[in-house]
Amino acid sequence: MTNDELLRRSLAAVWHPCTQMKQHEAASPSPLPMVPVVRGEGAWLYDADGRRYLDGISSWWVNLFGHCNPRINAAIADQLGRLEHVILAGFTHEPVVRLSERLAALTGNALGHCFYASDGASATEIALKMSFHYWRNTGRPQKSEFAALAGGYHGETVGALAVTDVALFRDAYAPLIRAAHVVPSPDARQAEAGETATDVARRAAAALETFLAENHERIAALIVEPLVQGAAGMAMHDPEYLRLARALCDRYAVHLICDEIAVGCGRTGTFFAHAQAGIRPDFLCLSKGISGGYLPLSVVLTTDAVYAAFYDDATARGFLHSHSYTGNALACRAALATLDIFASDDVLAANRDKAQKIAAALAPLAALPEVRHPRQRGMIAAFDVATDDPAFPHRFYRAALDAGALLRPIGNTVYLMPPYVVDDEEIALLGRAAAAALAAALTR
Ligand SMILES: *Cc1c(COP(=O)(O)O)cnc(C)c1O
Repeated sequence: MTNDELLRRSLAAVWHPCTQMKQHEAASPSPLPMVPVVRGEGAWLYDADGRRYLDGISSWWVNLFGHCNPRINAAIADQLGRLEHVILAGFTHEPVVRLSERLAALTGNALGHCFYASDGASATEIALKMSFHYWRNTGRPQKSEFAALAGGYHGETVGALAVTDVALFRDAYAPLIRAAHVVPSPDARQAEAGETATDVARRAAAALETFLAENHERIAALIVEPLVQGAAGMAMHDPEYLRLARALCDRYAVHLICDEIAVGCGRTGTFFAHAQAGIRPDFLCLSKGISGGYLPLSVVLTTDAVYAAFYDDATARGFLHSHSYTGNALACRAALATLDIFASDDVLAANRDKAQKIAAALAPLAALPEVRHPRQRGMIAAFDVATDDPAFPHRFYRAALDAGALLRPIGNTVYLMPPYVVDDEEIALLGRAAAAALAAALTR
């Protein structure tokens, strides 16, 4: 199909995610382009005319080692010739076994039991259900409520929305949702004069302590996005918060769920973000990058203690949750190939160097009067833009595409979160595209 044909037919037949479809009308006050992509290579996406865009947001935070990565492609092709999928109840296969063992090993075997699903929201719901069911099986069914951080995002199914505190995604469905208790975020942007990020973390932890002291008897778990709250606008916090939250959860017998769907797999500089706080959660949710950005896969890892509470002669004490594609063999193979790249290429070390280049590429922007709170954690760099123009995100997005980069602000927060295969020149290009888009979006 040609570009035009792809566009026209997509807008007629495909209901696109996270989109007010009318904004794709040219006559819309702030029109959104639709980019037809026919192929990808490395950090680049190509349209039918050969125009290309540098994928500065890893295609919604999923891609790690580039589009059409030869090593991941080869692993999937090999798996395709053996087994594409099989029921995981009563059956098993090598990719799911190997992946479970390798993920457990990456947690120092503290989280040695892997439960699979196909997307992040389902992983969130699995962790919530498992936590509640653990307390029920251990004689404390009144622990049936959850605590979540202000601005937190854990997916958009009805159950996951209960712990998601993003008004735009949640408010329309409020009557359907049994909302969690929202506790203050340790977002370092809240620092008052003279306060450090650690001070903000301690302040938020003190609020958590007050909340748990009063409510712990009905709280099953606290769910957090460690170090970076992505959908909140790349809100970053000091690891001190995670250390204090872990201690409070232990003190009040509340599970700690780390949602590393976005921040896992090396994004923040360590393979798991929670490792920077020297803690382990009771539940760890992974998705997005785990399959290299290739196939829908999510996994919840948990401890021996949680697992043991379900291990029983009674069927109903088991965790009877299921998804049709649980432990899909192709997705698990893609994940194994992804872990192989981490193991053989010393990706985390290479990323430390790339993270510095990203910082350098954005440094000139930090000096602009409209740019606030420049911040970075590993391969995620962000800043806020002081403007009251409601069309800013769309204007920036369009201008970045014109400059050859896919950069999609969250509200007034601009961020770079490129695949780990970006080279120096591509990083520099992202910096130039962000600068050009900012200049264009701020001129009326
Ligand atoms: C993307 C995301 C989810 C939801 O994952 P989906 O696959 O989109 O359902 C949950 N939590 C976090 C932190 C995410 O970034």
